Amino acid sequence: LFVEQELSSAAQVTIEGNQAHYLTRVMRVAPGDAVILCDDITGEWAAEVVEAGKRHVLLQPRDHQRPREAVPDFWLCPALLKKDRFDLVLEKATELGVDRILPVITRRCVADKLNAERAATVVTEAAEQCARTALPEVAAVSRLDTLLDEWPQERHLFFADEEGGEPAADAFCYAEGPAALLVGPEGGFDDAERAAIRAHPASVAISLGPRILRGETAAIAGMAVWMAEAGD
Ligand code: SAM
Repeated sequence: LFVEQELSSAAQVTIEGNQAHYLTRVMRVAPGDAVILCDDITGEWAAEVVEAGKRHVLLQPRDHQRPREAVPDFWLCPALLKKDRFDLVLEKATELGVDRILPVITRRCVADKLNAERAATVVTEAAEQCARTALPEVAAVSRLDTLLDEWPQERHLFFADEEGGEPAADAFCYAEGPAALLVGPEGGFDDAERAAIRAHPASVAISLGPRILRGETAAIAGMAVWMAEAGD
């Protein structure tokens, strides 16, 4: 379980709410049982159940098992998609090792907002399920023009462009340093958006092959290629 507080053997942890319900009702933990905790700061600890009440569980971290993982410096900037498809992007990006997810609103987005709490839950559950010891950040939704205006110049902005670009594997393996992948919505980027992205000094158009992929497919496939070529 990911917890807010920094873990140490010097301080007990009180779990409440849904996590307590999961531990007591689903996992049926009892005093003496072991639970794996992560804090996205020190990493992963084996903790012992001290108390298992109806609304709370008291845990004592015992053994520091794994440090926080070294996270590849990779951001994913997916245009908002319909809810369940965007959830898929959040889940798979987490499994693939993403550091930050920056959702983007573009003119042709069907979805126009993101439930931030739900997004955080999807990412946390995905991270717990694949035993990551770092928790990706889901940033607030930003408009494309704001994202481009505020883009950090040292970070490659790979732009998944179905109208053509450098083969993704080539572009990724030759690019040093921090990177990001920008992917469009169901209806794609419009001409003005595409021109603005291509005009940005940090942007590199990349192709994921000759076929038109769904946004979620392009985001997941593009991330997988980057992780294979440049992820550490
Ligand atoms: N223009 C597309 C069409 O004609 O259906 C609509 C956009 S596509 C469904 C969603 C997004 O996935 C695109 O904006 C692009 O970012 C990415 N994408 C799809 N196929 C791609 C490819 N072969 N190479 C690179 N990116 C691709």
